[in-house]
Amino acid sequence: MSSPEVEDNRRTLASDMRRAWLVELRRLVLAIGGGWLAGYLFAAPHLGMAVGLLVLVSYHFRLLYLLARWSLNPQRVELPESGGVWGEIFEGLYATQRRARQRKRKLASILAEFQASTAALPDGAIVVTPRGHIAWFNTAAQGLLGLRSPQDIGARINNLIRHPGFQRYVEQGDFSKDVQLPSPLNAQYTLNLRLIPYGNGQRLLIVRDVSEHQRLDRMRRDFVANASHELRTPLTVLSGYIEMMHGEAGRSDSALASWGAPLGEMRGQLGRMEHLIGDLLKLARLESDTPAPRNEPIDMAKLLHDALRQAETLSRGVHRFESEIDADVLLYGRESELQSIAINLLSNAVRYSPDGGTIQVEWRTARASGSDYPLLRVKDSGIGIEADAIPRLTERFFRVDVGRSRATGGTGLGLAIVKHALEHHEAELTVESEPGEGSVFVCHFPAYRLHQVRQQRRAG
Ligand code: ADP
Repeated sequence: MSSPEVEDNRRTLASDMRRAWLVELRRLVLAIGGGWLAGYLFAAPHLGMAVGLLVLVSYHFRLLYLLARWSLNPQRVELPESGGVWGEIFEGLYATQRRARQRKRKLASILAEFQASTAALPDGAIVVTPRGHIAWFNTAAQGLLGLRSPQDIGARINNLIRHPGFQRYVEQGDFSKDVQLPSPLNAQYTLNLRLIPYGNGQRLLIVRDVSEHQRLDRMRRDFVANASHELRTPLTVLSGYIEMMHGEAGRSDSALASWGAPLGEMRGQLGRMEHLIGDLLKLARLESDTPAPRNEPIDMAKLLHDALRQAETLSRGVHRFESEIDADVLLYGRESELQSIAINLLSNAVRYSPDGGTIQVEWRTARASGSDYPLLRVKDSGIGIEADAIPRLTERFFRVDVGRSRATGGTGLGLAIVKHALEHHEAELTVESEPGEGSVFVCHFPAYRLHQVRQQRRAG
C-alpha cells in the first residue's frame, strides 16, 4: 500500500474509534440516566441507577467472556456483532486473524514449492535436527540411502548411516569437507556426503552418487599406469642395447667409435624417460593406495640418514649438509611413501641450490594445540621461488623454470608425489621461500602418528 493510502486508512480507523467511544459514552449515559429515571418512578432513583450500571457491566462481562473463549479456540467460537469499542476490537482481531491465515497459506505454498523443487533434485537432501534426528528428506535420498517415508522421519541419522567413516565425519565436525562412503544399498556404488550447518543448529545432508566420476578417474589412472608399464619393457631393451653400443663406442678400433657423443646423448634421454615412467608409476600407485597404516612405527632417523646419503651423492660434494634428527621420534606410516617424501624434498634442495649452498634437515616434534606432533623440515639456501608460484608447486608437471628442471633431471612430478604421500599420512606441506634466498619445505604430521621412544624408555 502506498503511503497516502496508509495515511487515509489510519485516519478512517481513528474516526471509527472516536465514533465507537461516543457510542460507549451514550451507553453509559443511558444506563445511568435510564436506571435513575426508572428508579425515580418507584421512588428509588439510586437503586435504579445501580441496576442500570449492573446491566451495563454484565453486558461488558459477557463480551469479555466470549473474547476469552474465542482466544482459546478461534475456529469454534463466533464473536457477536457488537457496536462500540467491542465491535472495533472484534473487527481488529478478525482482520489480524485473516492476515495471519493469508500469511500461513503463502508460507505453506512457498514451502510446498521448495519441497517440490528439492524433491526433484538428483542429489539426496536430508534435513537433520540439532539432536541428530531426521526431520525431512527428498525422493533422491530414499533412492540413494534406502530411507523409507514416513517410517524414518524422526530416526537418528547415525542409526541409518552406520558406516564408521560417517560417524567419524560427524564427530570431527569439520563440515567444510565432505566424505566418501560405499552406498549402504550396494557397496559397488560410492556416495559423497556433505553436512551443511544452517539456522539454529539444523543441518542439511547432501548425498551424491559419485560412482561414475570415480569410475572415470580410475580409468584415467589405470590408463596412465598401464601405458607407463607397457613403455617400461621396450625402454629396458633399448637401454640395454644403447648401453652395450656406448661401451663399444669407447673403443678406438670399433666401428662405433665416432658414435660416442650421440650414443651418450641417447643414453641420457633414455635415463630421463625411465625416471619419468618411474615417477608416473609411483604417482599412479599412490593414487590407488589406501591411507598409510598406523600399526608399525617407522624409524625416521634411519630413513632420513639414507636419504641424506643419496642427496650427498647427487650433490657430488658441492653442498654443505646439516642435520638435526631426533632418533626418538618415530612415525606410524608407510615406509616407501616416507622415503619418497624425504628423497624428493632433499633432491630438490640439491638441484635448486647453487654450488656452495647449505641444506638443512630437521626431524623433531613441534607443539600445537597442546600436543606434540612430528615435523620434517628441509631448508636450502638455493634460488628460491616467487610467491605466486608457491601454491602451484604440487601440480603435476608444474615447473617454475622448465629448462633448469630438465637440466637437473627433473620430471615435474616430485612435489606431486610428495603431496599424495603426505595426504596418505593426513599430513600437510607448507612452503616458505624468497627468490635468491632459499626455500623451506615443512611437513606437518598429525599428533596421532607420533611414536616417541624416550617416553617408553623412561616409563620402562
Ligand atoms: P621437478 O622435477 O621439476 O623438480 P618438482 O615437482 O619436484 O618437479 O618441483 C616442481 C617445481 O618446483 C620445480 O620445477 C622447481 O621449479 C620448484 N622447486 C621445487 N623445489 C624447489 C626448491 N627447493 N627450490 C626452488 N625451487 C623448487
